[in-house]
Amino acid sequence: MQTVFSKIIAREVPAHIVYEDDDVIAFLDIIQATKGHTLVCLKEPFVDMMETPDDQAARLFKVVNRLTKAVDQAFKPEGITVISNNRAGAGQTVFHVHIHIIPRYETDGVTIKVKNHVHETGPDAYHKRAEAIRKAL
Ligand code: AMP
Repeated sequence: MQTVFSKIIAREVPAHIVYEDDDVIAFLDIIQATKGHTLVCLKEPFVDMMETPDDQAARLFKVVNRLTKAVDQAFKPEGITVISNNRAGAGQTVFHVHIHIIPRYETDGVTIKVKNHVHETGPDAYHKRAEAIRKAL
C-alpha cells in the first residue's frame, strides 16, 4: 500500500531523515509528541507487525535499538517509550509498519493509554491465555 512513508522513502515528501540503510529508514515524526520523537520504518511497505516477516522485523528492531541509544545520547531524556500501533483498533494511522521512539521528560504530559484492567486474571485465565499464545506460535 502506498502511504506517506513510501513517499518519504522515495523522496517525494520531505522529512528529517536521521538514518537509512537498504531495509530501514528513520525520520522525525512530523508531530513531535516530545523533543526527538522518531519513527523507524521498514522500506518494504508491510502494513503492520502482523504482516511483517520475522527476518525483516529483526532488521527493523536492530535499528530501533541503535536509534533508541542515539536519541538517549542526543536528548538525555528521563526515559524512552518504544511503541508500535498495529491496526486502526490500536490507533495506527499510517498503514506502513513503523516503531515510535518517544523520549520522555518529566513534564511532557504524554499519556500512553494502556488499559490496566484487572478482571479475569484468576489462575485459569492466565493458563488459557498463555496456552492460546503458545499454540499460535
Ligand atoms: P501511527 O498513528 O502509530 O500510525 O503513527 C503515524 C505517525 O506518522 C504519526 O505520529 C504522524 O504524526 C506521523 N506522520 C504522518 N505523516 C508524516 C510525515 N509526512 N512525516 C513524518 N511523520 C509523519
